[in-house]
Amino acid sequence: MNETSINPGSSAGTRLFGDHFVQALQPQERALIERLRELTRSHFGPNAAEVARQDVFAWDTFRLLAREGIVATAFPTAYGGSDARQALRIRIIEELGRVCSTSASMITGTDLSSRAIVAGASDALKQSLLPGLCSGELQAAFALTEPGAGSDVRGLKTTMRSSGDGYLLNGRKKFITRATTADWFVVVGRAEEEASTFIAVLVPRDAKGFTISPEVGKLGWFGVPISTLTFDNVQVPASHRLGAEGQGFALAQDALLRARIGHAAMALGRAIGAVEIAAAYATDRSTFGKTLGEHQGVQWMLADMVTQIEASRALLALTADKYDRGDADVAIFASMAKLQATDLCMKVVTDALQLTGGRGYLQDFPLERFFRDAKLNQIGEGASEVHKTVIGRDLVRRAATAERNPCLRPGSLVDY
Ligand SMILES: Cc1cc2nc3c(=O)[nH]c(=O)nc-3n(C[C@H](O)[C@H](O)[C@H](O)COP(=O)(O)OP(=O)(O)OC[C@H]3O[C@@H](n4cnc5c(N)ncnc54)[C@H](O)[C@@H]3O)c2cc1C
Repeated sequence: MNETSINPGSSAGTRLFGDHFVQALQPQERALIERLRELTRSHFGPNAAEVARQDVFAWDTFRLLAREGIVATAFPTAYGGSDARQALRIRIIEELGRVCSTSASMITGTDLSSRAIVAGASDALKQSLLPGLCSGELQAAFALTEPGAGSDVRGLKTTMRSSGDGYLLNGRKKFITRATTADWFVVVGRAEEEASTFIAVLVPRDAKGFTISPEVGKLGWFGVPISTLTFDNVQVPASHRLGAEGQGFALAQDALLRARIGHAAMALGRAIGAVEIAAAYATDRSTFGKTLGEHQGVQWMLADMVTQIEASRALLALTADKYDRGDADVAIFASMAKLQATDLCMKVVTDALQLTGGRGYLQDFPLERFFRDAKLNQIGEGASEVHKTVIGRDLVRRAATAERNPCLRPGSLVDY
């Protein structure tokens, strides 16, 4: 009963959104979430606006996440990580997304930039890099997108020509997060000799012929800058190749899959935060002789938000379980969860801002930041339209051989 009651003025009281998903975690996992909640109250929440205002790489945030073992959740135990289940990681990212997109994106960004190294690097490279990536002493960036290849990323033009014991790398990469702070770059290109062969390699930031542009300004997601990369005859040893030749895309897909699940969790966290703020405003503010929350129109807006958020959380929890079990259809579920959660977040944040009137529009009020941050979740790691295409194409393909509804007569429906 108390799960749905508002606790005005409390900083550590009963939450507006129920704890059902957290209660399903193991005791150790729950303890991590409790610790993270303390940190959102003491650090990530109160500092989020200032982190965004400064808009430089948020080192304090990153170091705290690393010190607390949150960054390490993305890495195998053999290299210093805690190899957390996705069932836990979506809760971590949701908690952070509820207050601060910068910190949440540092966790999804760790998956994006490091998973290809975990999956594809030689043991020697893993030994030398993964402990530092776990502890936050090292950082990696993931370079896939190009000026001519974003949604249609298989159209990428970066080439790798066989040269001595390795490759000569040429091309440009765009919108690359953490480029100004990363020590190592996962770069995906195609073999110059065989265009259908994708190759992923690791490039150190000081490689000869490799340049990183100044940071590029953007609408939101402040505190995690992006840049453009240029590779001009950059020599990469074969020992820095990730996986076999031809596996470059498969490695990228696993990193993107985890990052998509993370985007969905971040969007849901932000949507939850927006409802918390709008509901508090509806409690404190009165118009026309009653509190905003007593107007039926406002109750209906809040009801739509909370109902859809809980439905979306359930889809994401199912997707995380599928990832943890290794189910074959996890990629389609990740597309559904990301599509649903990120589009929902944009709507919830827009409606929450509407409910808070002029205050919602002020820079001094958190919803302005939530509103700007929400947009990127609908674009990064595959735009909503691309995920719709993936989901729809899969459904149509399966429909050809799926069991037909028993209400139908056998045979072609054309003959009905
Ligand atoms: C802040 C930020 C950080 C990023 N970080 C990284 C990073 O670290 N590494 C990296 O490699 N990339 C990164 N990206 C790139 C990101 O993944 C791409 O922006 C995204 O994949 C979309 O590609 P695009 O921007 O080229 O859009 P386009 O490919 O130009 O698409 C534009 C729009 O067209 C529509 N569209 C596209 N295809 C279809 C279709 N088939 N059907 C219907 N509609 C369609 C969609 O609405 C889409 O948003 C980042 C981007 C941003 C903005």
